[in-house]
Amino acid sequence: MFNCKICGSDRYDVKFSKVDKYSKESFDIVNCYACGFSLVYPEPLNQELINYYPSEYTPYNIKKNNIISWIKTVLIKREIKKIKKLFGGKKQISVLEVGCGNGEFLYHLKENTGWNVLGLEFNENAVNVARKNFGLDVRVSTLEESNISKESVDLVILRHVIEHIHDLKGFMDTLNSTLTKGGILYQLTPNQKSLDEKLFQKNWYSYDPPRHLSYFTEKSLIDLLNQYNHEIVDVGHSIDPTNWIYSLRDMTTNQKLKRLLNINPITLLIFTPINAVTRLFKSSGIIKVISRKR
Ligand SMILES: [Zn+2]
Repeated sequence: MFNCKICGSDRYDVKFSKVDKYSKESFDIVNCYACGFSLVYPEPLNQELINYYPSEYTPYNIKKNNIISWIKTVLIKREIKKIKKLFGGKKQISVLEVGCGNGEFLYHLKENTGWNVLGLEFNENAVNVARKNFGLDVRVSTLEESNISKESVDLVILRHVIEHIHDLKGFMDTLNSTLTKGGILYQLTPNQKSLDEKLFQKNWYSYDPPRHLSYFTEKSLIDLLNQYNHEIVDVGHSIDPTNWIYSLRDMTTNQKLKRLLNINPITLLIFTPINAVTRLFKSSGIIKVISRKR
């Protein structure tokens, strides 16, 4: 039976169906009738979900390009500076990144702060890269299976993770119990109330069922955090032209154009300023919410 992951309502409207580009299966994305939260329904079983992450899944296959890597590193370091400020010079900080991928963010965080960092990731290839390239302590595990001690983590990082979670309540319960009192949760997730979602609608790149199971807005993410008695520290919007570039790529049938519509210096030069403008109106493609456990 349908059960909204945010408000628990049992009533919904079907928004549309979308075919998964890898499995070619079709999934319904529905709106909760009571709170408007969007989610995949019905969902595949939790144990089946892993089959929908093929090795060619984009986040695991980051192509190397010097300029883009450089820009990315600059942006990561800028973000880390802001995170560091949240702890006001405190030295012994215990950090957990859930779904840390190849460990790039965690590596820079460790290098720039000296904090104790641990990563969890279920893709073994990504874990190998994190260990070999970055020398990080990364475990092949989900949060629920990780047995991390209660109230032992000062900072939990979820970068593009919450939208993938099957059992949102179970996940949040575990997450909250690992956080210390006053601990910080740092989250990034696609913004369903963004200009790019309005423009591309069903073709919006972040509509990616069944990998993306939940589609948050600022409001729904804050509603969820309120249920866990979190104080909202900061709500921000990140500049990320990915949704624009890949949504257009998925929509066009022109093969030449398809090849051009990739993350490259030209597309970044075109779409980053557009995204920067949408950010001013709080409607960029990514929301960032920082909260503190009371
Ligand atoms: Zn709801």
